Amino acid sequence: MTQVPFVDLTREFKAHEDDLVEIFRKIGRSGAYVMGPELAEFEELAAKYCGVKYALGVADGTDALILGLKAFGVGPGDEVITTPNSFIASVGAIVAVGATPRFVDVKNDLNMDPSCLREAITDKTKAVMPVHLTGRPSDMGEINKIAREFNLFVIEDAAQAIGGRYRGRPVGSLGDIAAFSLHPLKNLHIYGDGGLITTDNEDFYLRIKALRNHGLKDRDTCGEWGMNSRLDTLQAAIASFKLTKLDEWTKRFREIAAVYRQGLSDYLTVPVDTEDEFAVYHNFVVHSDQRKDLMEYLASRGIDTKIHYPVLLHLQPAAEQFGYREGDFPVAEKLSKTMMSLPIFPALTQIEIDSVVSGIRDFYTK
Ligand SMILES: *Cc1c(COP(=O)(O)O)cnc(C)c1O
Repeated sequence: MTQVPFVDLTREFKAHEDDLVEIFRKIGRSGAYVMGPELAEFEELAAKYCGVKYALGVADGTDALILGLKAFGVGPGDEVITTPNSFIASVGAIVAVGATPRFVDVKNDLNMDPSCLREAITDKTKAVMPVHLTGRPSDMGEINKIAREFNLFVIEDAAQAIGGRYRGRPVGSLGDIAAFSLHPLKNLHIYGDGGLITTDNEDFYLRIKALRNHGLKDRDTCGEWGMNSRLDTLQAAIASFKLTKLDEWTKRFREIAAVYRQGLSDYLTVPVDTEDEFAVYHNFVVHSDQRKDLMEYLASRGIDTKIHYPVLLHLQPAAEQFGYREGDFPVAEKLSKTMMSLPIFPALTQIEIDSVVSGIRDFYTK
């Protein structure tokens, strides 16, 4: 029996161990552990990669969202529209700046349904936060059109989608600001927490650049009270190294997705790229009416699967204050009951991939 882990980060570390140790030695010897030159180097590479003028390394993806909202001036009394099926942090960031999340339903691709957007806009709405969930870009053409009509800022929650594209344009260049996570479980990851912000807007860039470093304009002048949310020099140097590998890894994510799609579409609902999208499959989410039994069966064969995410944000205990109920977002709620994520990461072996496919086939044909 082949054991198939949902993810195994040590394989990638081992494959690049010599390079990574060399980076550690170099930074260790430099003495510049915070705001060293490698941070600016990474920011330049990341901006170029995302097709924007500016990028900023920050402490994590959640802070990237918080700093983005702060740059818009979002605060108490404001509303930010997002989707109810994201990771907790999307809403956590909105609440952290004192604003109120308003949810809209999703399409079958798990991303914001622009046709639900208009009815969620009130005179308090200040920004829209589409989440490119599972590494599939949201329908930004429609979302931006509506946002412009109502004078709303757009922040991409791109935590799961670095390397993705929408109508040929990179994720990170599709709104006013984009927030990425460099957490170990994300496609571009480092050895701890980290985040990245991209934007084409110089004012937002300068404001966030100060805000992430205590609001300092220079060494001794605080222009605005800020945060300590910096990406360590060491992690930035590692992120630059990893960025040179990202396209290769994305190719692998997409190859594995293609094998799953090919092998499983007779049994399960599988994700298929639309004409507009180039998805990076941070997660490969399939839908089964027999999810519980299927997950148990696969577990009995040593195959680990997960659910992203089993409890929707509007139904979380912490969300009670927002006044939503079950039934408010029928599509997201329906999808959350059938979805499950299959193992997908670049170092997954062919034997493991085949084992996932045959495990699912055996379940349905046994
Ligand atoms: C991971 C994630 C975040 C938060 O990123 P952290 O680096 O863990 O703070 C935000 N939004 C989404 C959709 C995520 O997947």
